[in-house]
Amino acid sequence: MKILATRPERCTGCGACEIECARTWFKVDDKEKSRIRIFPPAKEGQPFRIVVCNQNGACIDVCPTVALKRAKNGVVQLNKSLCVGCLSCVGFCPNQAMFYHPDYTEPFKCVACGKCVDVCPEEALYIAEVAETPASVTDIWLQKEAV
Ligand code: SF4
Ligand code: SF4
Repeated sequence: MKILATRPERCTGCGACEIECARTWFKVDDKEKSRIRIFPPAKEGQPFRIVVCNQNGACIDVCPTVALKRAKNGVVQLNKSLCVGCLSCVGFCPNQAMFYHPDYTEPFKCVACGKCVDVCPEEALYIAEVAETPASVTDIWLQKEAV
């Protein structure tokens, strides 16, 4: 499956990826509306911290309205028509990669579209193909059903 993979050691914290993501999905230049977030190094000499969804699907089972599901290409997608904005997934995500902004009812996450990859001047981001490792109970159940 496709994921947005990172090379934090190359990141300079320019924020181009955050702006590109917000422009792509919300048509605004507002980093608070990005599906990827860049945080300064915790200590001098350490890399910037790049926070983005790795598509592990841990959020799928906490959604009470089944608004989160894994698409055929492996990417975890939010169905906005089913989401009631309870933000359970935002609080639950072990990577803190489900984001929320008060302008919208529904949270938002990376769907590995690759738009930010194109603007990163340091090649700190790339789209990778990885073996699917479902963390979600629903995923495992669906795989068993398919056998
Ligand atoms: S891959 Fe797409 S959705 Fe994910 S952070 Fe980059 S621009 Fe946003
Ligand atoms: S565009 Fe690249 S270098 Fe700039 S903040 Fe994003 S990941 Fe880091």
